[in-house]
This record gives sequence, C-alpha cells and structure tokens, in this order.
Amino acid sequence: NQIEHKILVEAIGLLEEREASMKVLVIGNGGRESAIAHTVKRFHPEATLFVAPGNGGTAGDFSNVPIGVENIEELGAFAKKEGIDLTIVGPEVPLVMGVVDHFNQLGLKVFGPNKECSQFEGSKRFTKEFLMRHNIPTARYASFERYEVEECIAEMKNFKLPVVVKADGLAAGKGVLICESYEEAETGIREIFSGKFEGAGETIVLEEFLTGSEASLLCFVDGKTIVPMETARDYKRALDYDKGLNTGGMGGFSPNPIITESVKKAIDEQILTPIIAGFQAEKLDFKGVLFIGLMIEAGQPKVLEFNVRFGDPETQSVLPRLQTDLIEIMEACIAGRLDQVEMKWDKKQSVTLVLASKGYPETSHKGDVIHGLENLEESTYLFHAGTKKVEDTIQTDGGRVLAITRLADSLEEARVAIYEEVKKISFDGIQYRTDIAK
Ligand code: AMP
Repeated sequence: NQIEHKILVEAIGLLEEREASMKVLVIGNGGRESAIAHTVKRFHPEATLFVAPGNGGTAGDFSNVPIGVENIEELGAFAKKEGIDLTIVGPEVPLVMGVVDHFNQLGLKVFGPNKECSQFEGSKRFTKEFLMRHNIPTARYASFERYEVEECIAEMKNFKLPVVVKADGLAAGKGVLICESYEEAETGIREIFSGKFEGAGETIVLEEFLTGSEASLLCFVDGKTIVPMETARDYKRALDYDKGLNTGGMGGFSPNPIITESVKKAIDEQILTPIIAGFQAEKLDFKGVLFIGLMIEAGQPKVLEFNVRFGDPETQSVLPRLQTDLIEIMEACIAGRLDQVEMKWDKKQSVTLVLASKGYPETSHKGDVIHGLENLEESTYLFHAGTKKVEDTIQTDGGRVLAITRLADSLEEARVAIYEEVKKISFDGIQYRTDIAK
C-alpha cells in the first residue's frame, strides 16, 4: 500500500508539473485561432500559449510570436527553441505547404494533416477523384488541364445552367464561380487558365450545380476513426437575407437543425464510413480536422468540398460548446486512439456574429479604434480576428474584425443576447448582419 501510495503521489506530481509547464503554439491570426487558443486555456488555465502571428486580442490574452503562417522553417525553429509541447495549425496554407511533415521531422508534436492528406483542400480534383473512387455522393464533375482549354469550354456546355467553374487549388475562397450563362462560364474558364489565380488555376473542375441547404460538419480524425463534432451553419454572404458578395463568413450557429437524426444516419453510412475505408485502403494517414461541406436536399447529403482544418466562423460557434479537453482530443488524434475519448458537448445552442470593417469584403479598413469591448458580459465569448493592439487601444486591422458568441438554452435566446451585446461595441464603419440565426 505504501508503495502504491508513493507511485500515486509521484504520478500526480508529474501531471502537475506538466500542466504548469505545458506550452502550446497556435499557428494563425484569425477568429478561428482565437477560439482554439481560448478553448485550450479553458481546460488548461496554467498552460503557456503562443499564437503566431496572432492578433490584437491574442496579444493581451496570450503571447504573440511575430512569425507569418507561411514561414514554416522559422515556426519550427521557434517551437524547437521554446520547447513547445503541442502545435496546433489553424489555416490551410501552411498545411498544404507541409508544415506538419516539417514539424514531425524535427520531432515536434503537431496537430493537423500531413502534406499528402492536405491535398483534400489543396486540390479540388484530388478530392473529387477520391469521392468517385469510394462512391461518396457528390456533384457530377469533369476536370481539365490548362492545355485543354477548348475541351473544357466544349464540355462545360454539356452541364445545365447554372454551371459551377472551380480553380483546382487554394484561391483564398475566391476560386468558385457559379455561372448563369455559358458566356460567363467561358470567360471564367479563360481567365482562370490565363493565370488569374496563378498556380491554383492550372486545373479546372467543372461541376453540376447542387440545390438544397448547406451545412458544415467538422470531424476529428485519427487515421482510422472519424468523430463528427456538433453541427453548425455559417452565413457566407455579406448582407442580410443572403444578399451581397461572398465573404469568409459573417456569422453562424450550432447545432444546425437541417442535420436531423435521419440525415445524420445517412451522413454516417454514405459519407463518413466510406471516407475512413478510403483512407485505409489508400494508406492516407489523415490526422486532424476534416471539414466536410455538405449540400442537403430532401434528406440526402452530398459532399460539396473538403477542408483540412477548422472552419471560420464555425469554430467560434462549435468550440464554446465543447466539454471535453481539446488537448486530450488532439493528442488522441495524433496517437491514433480517438476511439478511447468520450466527447461531450454542451446541450446549449450557440450563435456567433462577425463584425467587419468598412469596405469589407471588397476592401477592408485598418486603424479604426474599437470601443466598448470591456462592457461585454462575462458570458459573451469575444474572439479577435483582424485587430491590432496599439498602445492602450485595440484597432481594426483587417476585414473580419471580431466575432462574438453566446450560448443559451434556445437559439432565439442566444440570438437576442448577441444582438444586445453588439450594441456595446463601436468603431468607425462597423458592419454586421442583423439576421443571423433568425
Ligand atoms: P467550395 O469551396 O467548393 O465549397 O465552394 C464554395 C461555395 O460555392 C460552397 O460553399 C457553395 O455555396 C458553392 N458551391 C460550390 N460547389 C457547388 C455546387 N456544385 N453546387 C452549388 N453550389 C456550390
């Protein structure tokens, strides 16, 4: 008994030591990365958090590291020197560049898919071919290389209008054209092939237009198990009632009622199970977050796209509902034992509102002083995105400036609370949608 007691005391001591000294690096600077860092902190108040390069909010709450997300060598050198225990990669660009492979080579623990698996976001054709090979429901498609421009234009006319024209690679959310006429599609194809999106437009994917309701499903994956998080819905258009230009996302809520129990079952059988079987069959060791963009019509889900990381602003709606330690989940993903983690979620529903700067999404405005953040209620989650700390002020520093999230027993209650809270925040040119979760 004495020996057992001694071992126990030592084990507790080791755990406490680790907790006190745990160092986490989050790569990115958006609202998503703010939400990830806050969630880590919620479960590990003693941990030291670094955000590279971070924003005006992470500067105050954590430590910002002035290294850009594409500077993989320097990020690795920093993590090595600082003795970082876990690095979490937020955005897609460093993942597609191979940041995870680089960190692994340095012997550093890192959360996110490797370069090979990141092609699911880096190449739309790669994803389409995978979906076809494994009979996963998706829109009919055809793909063409730059030298096949005339064949591409000819084939495009075999699709019904509107026809969807996509640049294959990463184009910062701007590479998808929904064309109402064949002339518009032809112009789009010629522009993409002449280098509008540089390397991202060497291949084009044409797609049949799908109708229905969109939903985002974020999943944790450990290579052999896929576990969906709570569902979410985001709002892509800049203006109320889905008018205006496409944006990175102006708000959202969780859960998404379009995903009923029967839709969940269909997603599980027709999408998640074949995805994992496909990963295994093709020896794709996907570890990280798989974001599945879905179109649902008459209860039938189809895959629109894959992303290989958390969504923004879905993350700001979903993570505040997480009741299981995020680090424990991520470490289980890396170690391939996700099946041993019991994931718990708050039954409460969440609403997230994004506040944008003057001119967004066509332009953005920097340097406007933000007032009133200190007046928000404690139960409001405040996630900084395009902000900068300048002496004692917080200023706008990008298009999407802030996101605020509230949890409540009903969506309506959360929505009302969010729109009360937003009245307390002001900056020159502030804009936000008034119909989120309505
Ligand atoms: P993606 O990046 O491929 O998901 O495309 C961005 C957005 O374009 C999606 O969220 C949809 O709103 C829309 N979209 C893409 N593909 C299709 C499609 N085949 N049918 C209808 N809408 C689409």
